[in-house]
Amino acid sequence: MNHESSVIHGKYKNMEEDIFCRIIKGEIPAKKVYEDDLVLAFHDIHPITPVHVLIIPKKHIASINELEAEDAATMGAMMLAAKKIARDLGVAEKGYKLLIRTGRDGGQDVPHIHMHLLGGARLREDIGPVR
Ligand code: AMP
Repeated sequence: MNHESSVIHGKYKNMEEDIFCRIIKGEIPAKKVYEDDLVLAFHDIHPITPVHVLIIPKKHIASINELEAEDAATMGAMMLAAKKIARDLGVAEKGYKLLIRTGRDGGQDVPHIHMHLLGGARLREDIGPVR
């Protein structure tokens, strides 16, 4: 089963072998920029903006569709991490975007919630339907 179908069908709800779980476990290297008990953040391996960081929960949660009420503190910690990282990397004042893709139509590739922090340049507004 590929990542896309695992996200869509939620069959691997407890799967902990996605690439971001392996980064959390230290099995795959990443350029970390922030870490606390609940959250890890690192530079995206294929940046699309001058600053492109991924902020992820340490708990395996496949997508926003799998969130439970007990995950509220983790999601809050991700937002607070974004605030701190933006300041530390010098983009807080000029601004940035936070993006969480979900499922096939959302373009999610990795079945582990991740928030993109995108900044370091003025960004286009060209999200729209695929033609
Ligand atoms: P998404 O399309 O929203 O699921 O984003 C997945 C992101 O993960 C992409 O921007 C990839 O470049 C990034 N990515 C995949 N593998 C790695 C990795 N090993 N280290 C850092 N970023 C990665």
